[in-house]
Amino acid sequence: MSVAANVIQLENTVNSFVAEPRKHLIGGRWVEAASGKTFPVYNPATEEVIAYVAEGNAEDIDRAVKAARRAFESGPWPDLTPAERGKMIWRLGDLIYEHLEELAQLESLDNGKPIVIARAADVPLSADTFQYFAGWTTKMEGNTIPLSVPYAPGATFHAYTLREPVGVVGQIIPWNFPLLMAAWKLAPAMATGCTMVLKPAEETPLSALLLGELIQEAGFPDGVVNIVTGFGEETGAPLAAHPGVDKIAFTGSTEVGKLIVKAAANDLKKVSLELGGKSPNIVLSDVDVESAIVGTAGAIFFNHGQCCCAGSRLYVQEDIFDQVVEGVANEARNIQLGPGLDPNTQMGPMVSEIQFNRVCGYLDAGAAEGAKAIVGGHKSGGKGYFVEPTVFVDTKPDMKVIQEEIFGPVVAAIPFKEVNDELIAEANGTDYGLAAGVWTRDIGMAHSIAAKLKAGTVWINTYNIFDPALPFGGYKQSGWGREMGHDALDLYTQKKAVCAML
Ligand code: NAP
Ligand code: MG
Repeated sequence: MSVAANVIQLENTVNSFVAEPRKHLIGGRWVEAASGKTFPVYNPATEEVIAYVAEGNAEDIDRAVKAARRAFESGPWPDLTPAERGKMIWRLGDLIYEHLEELAQLESLDNGKPIVIARAADVPLSADTFQYFAGWTTKMEGNTIPLSVPYAPGATFHAYTLREPVGVVGQIIPWNFPLLMAAWKLAPAMATGCTMVLKPAEETPLSALLLGELIQEAGFPDGVVNIVTGFGEETGAPLAAHPGVDKIAFTGSTEVGKLIVKAAANDLKKVSLELGGKSPNIVLSDVDVESAIVGTAGAIFFNHGQCCCAGSRLYVQEDIFDQVVEGVANEARNIQLGPGLDPNTQMGPMVSEIQFNRVCGYLDAGAAEGAKAIVGGHKSGGKGYFVEPTVFVDTKPDMKVIQEEIFGPVVAAIPFKEVNDELIAEANGTDYGLAAGVWTRDIGMAHSIAAKLKAGTVWINTYNIFDPALPFGGYKQSGWGREMGHDALDLYTQKKAVCAML
């Protein structure tokens, strides 16, 4: 592992964006926090402050929810035709492409991720998510339903269903893919005609705020999208509890997901959750070993392991175990660590000091419980929240590094003899069920394993493939509901049955 350090020159527009304290977007206006307070946003590669943003509280949330309510009930938004709404959302996608470099720079600066990844993945996928959902606005159809009511002999009915937007939606997102998570939340809610209050993660609010400017430029009416920045307890919690919010959509830790459910229980608002994971990645001995090595290394090291679906438990059939583990360790050794803004960087820092300490805590816990790091195992010295990509062996199923989500570049490699119920039980043996991987040339075996895994996504001979059309979400404690694809429309609509006697 070596540390790169030739960071690119930021665009003038990015420099001027971070030079000003950034405000909340409420009711179509950029406004200061009700308290007048701001908080700093840090560059995780240098630990320096890059910008200040408004520090929201319950009063700001209340203003934003009221603005979203007004925009939902009256004004231009509910009067737009579905096609007009679709064109506006498509236009937003175009604007994201036009501002690709700025958004990528801001994302890399704020989150620490490699600029090459932000350019190739985060920003285009965000634009594509809006454009995918733009197409759904004109397809929100109900059904006609033939009735046979036994106690109304001779009567005829005309019965049909309408799909209606759920209303004002609160959306709370994490820091690992700040712009993309905003897109996953906003796009389907826009498509269905909801209005929104978005709370970005306190660590990474900048790209969502620039997106807010593009939302205005695309012509969305005031109050359709409101963005309130701030801390979880002061801003997220009042949003989850606000009686004016009809539905809350959350992505983040399972722990906070449970708090969201409790907050929403008061007035039984609808809830969808995309939570943590501890995903098994299973490699059979008949596999093309080289591609399995590259693929399984990518499954854990992509985005510095800060992926809810990271393939963090690597099960390898014993006759190729040493070869695969050594191969993955080699991949780790060759990863170029550095600031995200250096185009040669392959892995940036952890997003924050807290996350850095959390990951280092797991490295220590693994060692203390008897796991052996064959590569990595430490923080990387100097400024910035850098952690060495790490491969643990000699683990036991009940160790913390096997059971708990680390959310860092740390994988545990575990040998198995054959594919049997014991292996499946072990792969399924955590509270999570977000994703899984299977690597084999035996396609029948691959599908049979996929059927037995308790996971919302199973990748076969690949990993981390996302598409706006592919539903994503968790089994067990990894969440409720599915984002993306047409399933996401269910999160933001409710069905009305209309029945007329003719
Ligand atoms: P988190 O606390 O769950 O944060 C996610 C979002 O929820 C952030 O916007 C956060 O605001 C907000 N939040 C925090 N407490 C809240 C509350 N009481 N009510 C409402 N909203 C609240 O996650 P984290 O602390 O950033 O990371 C902790 C762990 O969560 C990670 O180590 C990882 O295991 C997991 N995680 C999972 C995902 C995922 O994609 N599933 C993403 C990120 C993290 P603040 O940013 O202000 O705290
Ligand atoms: Mg947090």
